Amino acid sequence: MVSEIHEIPENDDSALSSEEDSGLIDLASDTFLMGQAMRQAQKAYLAGEVPVGAIIVQNGSIIARSHNQVETLKDATAHAEMLALTQAQEALGDWRLTDCDLYVTKEPCPMCAGAIVHCRIRRVIFGCGDANGGAAGGFINLLQQPTLNHFSEVTPGVLQEESKYLLKSFFLEARTKKITGQGGESNST
Ligand SMILES: [Zn+2]
Repeated sequence: MVSEIHEIPENDDSALSSEEDSGLIDLASDTFLMGQAMRQAQKAYLAGEVPVGAIIVQNGSIIARSHNQVETLKDATAHAEMLALTQAQEALGDWRLTDCDLYVTKEPCPMCAGAIVHCRIRRVIFGCGDANGGAAGGFINLLQQPTLNHFSEVTPGVLQEESKYLLKSFFLEARTKKITGQGGESNST
């Protein structure tokens, strides 16, 4: 009898707290903010760009949103992170982004990691890792080099399955187009 009475409030408590957790959207959570970066990646996908998206957050506000635009701008440096850093610097009127966090759907490359260090981004949160080209711990870690003058906190793997799926779909589609000859100039003339 006594043990029964003790068990009931305990169960009620846990049920209540889990209900509260699932019912609320935490607008400051890494998952929510990565979702915003994923929306940018989807824009890139629709534009025929490698689907990578990025946002920069300061004090809970999104101050930059961008997606990869290498093909559109015909600029190999137009990665999502580079464009987001430029936007954030313009928004703040300062190149120092010391209290800003960058969310990007794929692990940054060495170019972007270098720029992130120069802008002194506080924290980098990324989706899927890149063992071959990633510079946030994938094949090299430029964001946490003891010899450099800035050190960013790194959180990997947020919505990694979603971002990986989008990238895989993109490259699969690109390969299929190549095989079937879509977009080939010699066939159309
Ligand atoms: Zn890059």
